[in-house]
Amino acid sequence: MENNEYVMFTKEMKKTHTILVPNMLPNHFKIIIRLMKKYGYNMVLLENSARRVVDEGLKSVHNDTCYPALLVIGQFLDALKSGEYELDKTALLITQTGGGCRASNYIHLLRKALATDFPEVPVISLNFSNTEKSDGFKLTVGMVLGLVNCIFYGDLIMTLYNQCKPYEICDGDTDIALNECLEYMYDRIEKGGFGKRKKNYRYIIDKFNSVKRIKIRKPRVGIVGEIYVKYSPLANNNLEKFLLKEGCEPVVPGLMDFVLYCIVNYINDGKIYGFSNMRTRICSLLYRLLRRMNKTVNELLEKNGFTPAHDFEELRKEADELIHQGVKMGEGWLITAEMGCLAKSGTENIVCTQPFGCLPNHIVAKGMSRRVKEKYPQANIVAIDYDPSATNVNQENRLKLMIANIGSTQKV
Ligand code: SF4
Repeated sequence: MENNEYVMFTKEMKKTHTILVPNMLPNHFKIIIRLMKKYGYNMVLLENSARRVVDEGLKSVHNDTCYPALLVIGQFLDALKSGEYELDKTALLITQTGGGCRASNYIHLLRKALATDFPEVPVISLNFSNTEKSDGFKLTVGMVLGLVNCIFYGDLIMTLYNQCKPYEICDGDTDIALNECLEYMYDRIEKGGFGKRKKNYRYIIDKFNSVKRIKIRKPRVGIVGEIYVKYSPLANNNLEKFLLKEGCEPVVPGLMDFVLYCIVNYINDGKIYGFSNMRTRICSLLYRLLRRMNKTVNELLEKNGFTPAHDFEELRKEADELIHQGVKMGEGWLITAEMGCLAKSGTENIVCTQPFGCLPNHIVAKGMSRRVKEKYPQANIVAIDYDPSATNVNQENRLKLMIANIGSTQKV
């Protein structure tokens, strides 16, 4: 599609438009939206989530297309039709991965869906691969560094929430800690920047550490899968909440794993195809830097009695034993490696979230579960399909069956 066939997001629009953002990771995105405000972008996180969203998606996206595309586009259309936003002052933000997977092309599906009823609404591509640019939205080095920090803080908050919520003695204490941490992050941003990282990590850890918890160990259930369905409560029908309600501790690998996976894939390409260029060198540097930052968070977690996430090199080692790091379509080797590492470290019950229409996920997740089980016979991997016709009841019954087979709560 040529640029002049659709309306572009211009510098002037930056001052006048509200940018709608689809909801994937609510807490991470809430922090990111505050950060973007600092750079002059007025963003709103979409929270519409009723069946209407799926129905809107089905009207504009072929039902053979992957489910995340259908939901993201449905959520945008539902919001535009709600009357809440002035159409001539609204823009939409969507990610483009730039890889071989279909996520690079959601943007074209979205523009097609907008063409009849909302031709005046511009779509902004958020990408790190130069797939598309617009005058009004430019990622600066400061913004990228800020985004990286938001991911670390978001991951830390998510990890701590899941490790406190199942054990809280006073109902709601963990949610209070969560809200206080979010307010703290907003305040840091408003005051000009995040400031000292370690100080912020400590604040967040101390807040959650102050939640009084019972000393038992509930069954841990890992969540892996295609990135959108794995994290988005809209897509996975509030999977984390459901597991908490059923007396489990959800273990959700952080978004930083996916970022590192994307960076490592560039480095691996250089090794596999025998080339070295500016991009592979920058990625190597970035990888070392982010891993060091990740290590700091993990060390602080461990020091305070929480379970840290896996070191990324551990995931790569696991991938080498189970699959090949050249398998990089969609979430590729990362899902297999996450299943292996979870099983190895005692989170043997794993829910593998499978969106309809996702070929890569079927291969690297469901398709690899036998290989993971051969290596870790105690692993209990359940693949749950998410699609427009799948009912909550069906998904929850399968999860309940899995939970029924898990050993009971233990004292620690
Ligand atoms: S990973 Fe799966 S769901 Fe995501 S874009 Fe690719 S095919 Fe679609």
